[in-house]
Amino acid sequence: MLIPPLDLSRARILVSNDDGISAPGLKILERIARGFSRDVWVVAPEQEQSGAAHSLTLSRPLRIRRLAPRRFAVDGTPTDCVLLAINEIMKKRGPDLVLSGVNRGGNMGEDVTYSGTVAAAMEGTLMNVPSIAFSLNVAHGTAPLWATAAHWAPDLVRRLVSVPWPANTLMNVNFPNIPADQVTGIVVAEQGRRKIGGNLVTAIDPRNRPYYWIGPVRDEDTASGGTDIHAVTNGAVSVTPIHLDLTDRAALGALRQVLG
Ligand code: MN
Repeated sequence: MLIPPLDLSRARILVSNDDGISAPGLKILERIARGFSRDVWVVAPEQEQSGAAHSLTLSRPLRIRRLAPRRFAVDGTPTDCVLLAINEIMKKRGPDLVLSGVNRGGNMGEDVTYSGTVAAAMEGTLMNVPSIAFSLNVAHGTAPLWATAAHWAPDLVRRLVSVPWPANTLMNVNFPNIPADQVTGIVVAEQGRRKIGGNLVTAIDPRNRPYYWIGPVRDEDTASGGTDIHAVTNGAVSVTPIHLDLTDRAALGALRQVLG
């Protein structure tokens, strides 16, 4: 199934993120969305939800706080936000496009499965709305160059929605954290390999108990070509189509030989 091209000027756009309702990257994405359409809605988490992945809140009720017309905060995850936006806040007419981000920090390689930013786009996709996740690959301790995302995103979105789009696929966009005029272009890339979690910070709390804190350092493969990581570390904007069906089709046949 394919989703037809979108007329952005008439589109109802939902903007969400995982860095929370007050995050600077959300304001950048709102501004980008308002450049396309006057019908922009924001539904974002009250608190930062980085690393929330595609989690739902099931063990307690959720509250929606209206901050302004078409602007809401939800005390849950990015997935909760998109779900409540489509099924409650925007139930009279749902969005034509979901934009998530712009995340402070890249979401490349295995980050995709940990990311709340990508998860908001997953939820939109599962609800049959074309969805795009945006992240700025800024290192910890470095100033984010939001202007690079603001410069490169509009034309990229226009081009992405100008063609039919596979219905079970979201687009994952990563910007390099370099000045906009130094960006080398847009690269359609595969998901690369990088893994967080090897950098565990351990210490003793004030009550003499040990604690463990997952640090930001990732073990990443920057050498392999054709990946999101390779593109962004070489100064390009990466666009990766992410399919929500995680089945390894190449392995099906061999597995059926053994088990089936
Ligand atoms: Mn985040």
